Amino acid sequence: MHTGFYDEIHEEFREVVREFVTREVTPHYKQWDAAHMMPRALWEAAAENGLLGLAVPEEHGGMGLADYRFRMIIDEELARADALGAALAFHLHDDWVLPALLQFATEEQKQSWLPRFMDGSFVSSVGFTEPGAGSDLRGVRTKATKNDDGSWTLNGQKTFIGNGISGDGALVLARTDGSDVKQRGGATSFSLFLVTKEGNPGYTPGNQLEKMGLKASDTAELFFSDVQIPAANLIGEEGRGLEYVKAILPQGRLAVAAAAVVVAETVLDQTLDYVTQRNAFGERIADFQNTRFQLADLQTGLEAAQRYLAAQVEGFNAGQLDLAGASKAKLHASEFAKKCVDICLQLHGGYGYILEYPVAQAYLAVRLLTIFGGTSEILKETIAQELLAGSAPNSR
Ligand SMILES: Cc1cc2nc3c(=O)[nH]c(=O)nc-3n(C[C@H](O)[C@H](O)[C@H](O)COP(=O)(O)OP(=O)(O)OC[C@H]3O[C@@H](n4cnc5c(N)ncnc54)[C@H](O)[C@@H]3O)c2cc1C
Repeated sequence: MHTGFYDEIHEEFREVVREFVTREVTPHYKQWDAAHMMPRALWEAAAENGLLGLAVPEEHGGMGLADYRFRMIIDEELARADALGAALAFHLHDDWVLPALLQFATEEQKQSWLPRFMDGSFVSSVGFTEPGAGSDLRGVRTKATKNDDGSWTLNGQKTFIGNGISGDGALVLARTDGSDVKQRGGATSFSLFLVTKEGNPGYTPGNQLEKMGLKASDTAELFFSDVQIPAANLIGEEGRGLEYVKAILPQGRLAVAAAAVVVAETVLDQTLDYVTQRNAFGERIADFQNTRFQLADLQTGLEAAQRYLAAQVEGFNAGQLDLAGASKAKLHASEFAKKCVDICLQLHGGYGYILEYPVAQAYLAVRLLTIFGGTSEILKETIAQELLAGSAPNSR
């Protein structure tokens, strides 16, 4: 990010993260990428360094680092180490599941769950998407039926679930109003649950889904067959699941925007190194006018993306980031990062196509960012909705 964005306290935190990445991630990352899986020891090491559950308040044993700049530093350092898969795994845990718990869990639930979120003993997944429902979550068919004692029985299937194999449980969106699952549900048809694998033989991950990139983070289908959920694992109130998902979307989308800017920054840096070292026709690649113009465009675009993101982070830290703002940040940053990495790959020539080169890995990773957490098309719908609501005849 630009100079002045971070304070000294953030830079001190960066030292801790950098040291953690150098020691715990870099030496093993290629192996994890090949195995399509990261070990639990990574989560435990992250916990020991205070890198999980940053926003957990002090009264719940956390550090209360709700300032989003701390989360961004973790992404930046993992991106610099070309370990974006690890960034994705932590992102699901800290930017999606944790905010739901912090905002909507009861005091009792927080006391029971948050310590395990921070000590690495409970790795979480986000279980929203299904084979027939991604952008349109009202199409979710996974169903939870209330038992006589207030507990729930869960049946259904999720897909594309990060940490799905390696994790211990998921934040699951399920239909709870008994409506016909073949029809779209209503605004109050769904509820959110924290569903744990332990003691639940009906909670089974499917096979690894073979992704283009970010391979070190495992992604799988999840199957629920008569999974028993205690009454105490309902998050918030029954029927308010979609409302809660909407409430956590701003952080999820801001996080993707931040990751996109980090990827663009990192790849642009790597490309500057590359084009100043490689020669053709007796000149550095950097000396061709095309290269200079492309780099100038990308740097300008990057600075605009950084400034815009910084404004949204400031809004988030002040509790003022709304869904449209976060959607704009994600739309702009992820589309820019996609373009930036594509141009940088071109400037690497044939080496850009070789997976050993970070730019090739970034190309595969960045492609997810305009899809995951709301596709660019869905973001545009959200932004347009706000725009048109603002220009309705009676709104002024
Ligand atoms: C690697 C990976 C990891 C993921 N991790 C998770 C995870 O951990 N947990 C989780 O719950 N989900 C996860 N997802 C799911 C992801 O969030 C969804 O893929 C995404 O929301 C899009 O849903 P879909 O794939 O069903 O696409 P669809 O909704 O079927 O969309 C297909 C196309 O139609 C377009 N479209 C849909 N509706 C509209 C509309 N109204 N107007 C215009 N265009 C529209 C979309 O933009 C898209 O281009 C992951 C996905 C991937 C690929």
